[in-house]
Amino acid sequence: MEPTEPELTVAEQAALTSGSDFWHTTPIGSAALPAVTLTDGPHGVRLQADTGGPLTGQPATCFPPAVATASTWDPSLLRRMGEALGDECRAMGVAVLLGPGINLKRSPLGGRNFEYFSEDPLLTGMLAAEWVRGLQSRGVGASLKHFAVNSQETDRMRVSADVDERTLREMYLRAFQRVVTQARPWTVMAAYNKVNGVYASQHRWLLTEVLRGEWGFDGVVVSDWGAVADRCAAVAAGLDLAMPGPDGARDRELADAVREGRLDPALLERAAGRVRALVRRAAGRQPGGYDADAHHALAREIAGRAVVLLKNDGGLLPLRARGQSLAVLGEFARTPRYQGGGSSQVTPTRLDYALTEIAGATSAPVRFAPGYAADGSADAALLAEAVRAARDSDVALVFAGTLHETEGADRDGIDLPEAHRQLIEQVAAANPRTVVVLSNGAVVRTSPWDALVPAIVEGWLLGQAGGSAIADVLFGWVNPSGRLAETIPLKLADHPSYLDFPGENGHVRYGEGIYVGYRGFDAREQEVAYPFGFGLSYTTFEYGQASAVATDAGIEVRIPVANTGGRDGREVVQVYVSLPGSRVRRPPRELKAFASVAIAAGQTADVALTIARDDLAYWDTRLGRWVVEGGAYHCAVGASSRDLRATAVVEVAGDDIRVPLTPDSTIAEWFADPRGAELLGQALAAMAASGSGPAAGLAADPGLMAFLGSLPLSRMAAFPGSTLTPGAVDKLVAAANG
Ligand code: BGC
Repeated sequence: MEPTEPELTVAEQAALTSGSDFWHTTPIGSAALPAVTLTDGPHGVRLQADTGGPLTGQPATCFPPAVATASTWDPSLLRRMGEALGDECRAMGVAVLLGPGINLKRSPLGGRNFEYFSEDPLLTGMLAAEWVRGLQSRGVGASLKHFAVNSQETDRMRVSADVDERTLREMYLRAFQRVVTQARPWTVMAAYNKVNGVYASQHRWLLTEVLRGEWGFDGVVVSDWGAVADRCAAVAAGLDLAMPGPDGARDRELADAVREGRLDPALLERAAGRVRALVRRAAGRQPGGYDADAHHALAREIAGRAVVLLKNDGGLLPLRARGQSLAVLGEFARTPRYQGGGSSQVTPTRLDYALTEIAGATSAPVRFAPGYAADGSADAALLAEAVRAARDSDVALVFAGTLHETEGADRDGIDLPEAHRQLIEQVAAANPRTVVVLSNGAVVRTSPWDALVPAIVEGWLLGQAGGSAIADVLFGWVNPSGRLAETIPLKLADHPSYLDFPGENGHVRYGEGIYVGYRGFDAREQEVAYPFGFGLSYTTFEYGQASAVATDAGIEVRIPVANTGGRDGREVVQVYVSLPGSRVRRPPRELKAFASVAIAAGQTADVALTIARDDLAYWDTRLGRWVVEGGAYHCAVGASSRDLRATAVVEVAGDDIRVPLTPDSTIAEWFADPRGAELLGQALAAMAASGSGPAAGLAADPGLMAFLGSLPLSRMAAFPGSTLTPGAVDKLVAAANG
């Protein structure tokens, strides 16, 4: 039996529910509770260094940020990354790593998109769940953040994300639900913003009813740093730990509130109890070390898998390691952008440079020119030098991208900096064999210059080994298999979020509803530059016939996929589901399963994919619950959301649901319900027989039904001659629902 824990005084409970400093919980000597360390996160450990700025951490492996890891579409890589992060945490004495960040990428302007996975909740949830499992397998806790609807930086500490419940459930909470229920993170971080007018850190419905009540979360809810406006309200809502600290004055206020009867003592006791359980859980962690070289190699492997080959006309890539002179152009080739700014910034253990790696990989001449100034601005002399180098070389590689993305600020556009665009255009004019290599934390617009170049490599922000990973892909040592986890639009104004981002006067309206990202582009049949799920390979894949079988657990989809090219490769097989004729509006297709499959040249893989039944459900606002609608589901299998190669149709039995009839239900709703139709039909027949009633023969007369179908039954009472008095309606309702 566990020894019983000593009781804590109210003051101690209050102290335990806030930090002792920026990164530690409050130690409680009387209960032998040490402080535990929580630190960022998510793509490396940022344990605050004693010297340097506030964002300077002790050296740790800077793995690729989520924008890149998401592009791998491979949960097993996220698992290995989580394990490696767990080992680094153990080596550095960290109990909780503040990640993963799983907010949906609602707009390409989101300043923290580089820290988030995708515009799709299934992809986000599947990847993040493995990250959490990997980390926690090492005895280190995760902090799933930022709960919830924290998809912008503008006014992030006050703005209210105004979002309807179906959208909330199906889009913005869905990945959280998956990770909480499947990977059981130790902690969840409450976001800065408000959700429908209430601060997330004080949101009882979110923190208690949904998170704990519906999803069974039993860990600690920690606030984002500085998110709590009112400690009492936060504790009452279900927040356990307010960070950072010390927060002495507000600890005392909290204790006073309990003593004065303004806060239920049980609520504070419960919050403190959860923090105590976290501290005890953390004590089980064994100290350890880690192999920095092995982790660098893993960072390189993941980065290589994250690169998305957007275009490769004429098979310009891969480059040849011999006999092909190269111009490497653009400052980014020697001064890499490999992570974003803000709390996730990691001090890397080392850094790879694309220029060095490329020069080391080829025996042919390599000419370098920075092309633009170090601050990203145009410089005519540098541009001219780059154009000359391009002209004198067999192939030109242009390194371009965004200058910065950071927590705290949204982006002001999706265009490349002017100097980068000029470099691309002029180099392409000088050498038709031009490859653009992009470094960016969120999508950039390619359409203005896309047609000028034969090859585009989307390199995102790839972490400390990005330089070598880029070379791996350029030379074909890694056959690219990255796929877009976010749509690249032709222009910003096409984006579903465009009219409602980032809001104003303290509110942002999630006006596009469930039509986030590709769901919105598809619903409006809009052209895009590169669709969700897209990415090329150096080999080719052919899809056979798809088959689908419904089981109690969901749908099993199978499809043979053949590697028909000359190289071993990896295909990301994607299944998009739709339900034609659904009773609710739905996007034309939604990702419901995927698999990253290695297939040797000339081989065929029989790919099996499982769609969980829960993932077929929509949120029914009438019933306030998830509902799997019965019907013929179309499972379209392919290489991207707009490259669907085979479809299997499968009949799925719906949930056994019935929406209760009420006096407010319309005549049409009564007739759509078998029992209601019978009862109301009898009542109307009786009325008709007595020669009265406004709607005699209604059911048999489609014209009349169309005219009166939207009438709530209760309103019929007022019609002249109606025998449907309020009392009669109540009786019908009771009989219909009985
Ligand atoms: C960020 C969190 C981070 C925390 C601690 C906040 O500003 O929003 O993501 O974990 O700081 O650094």
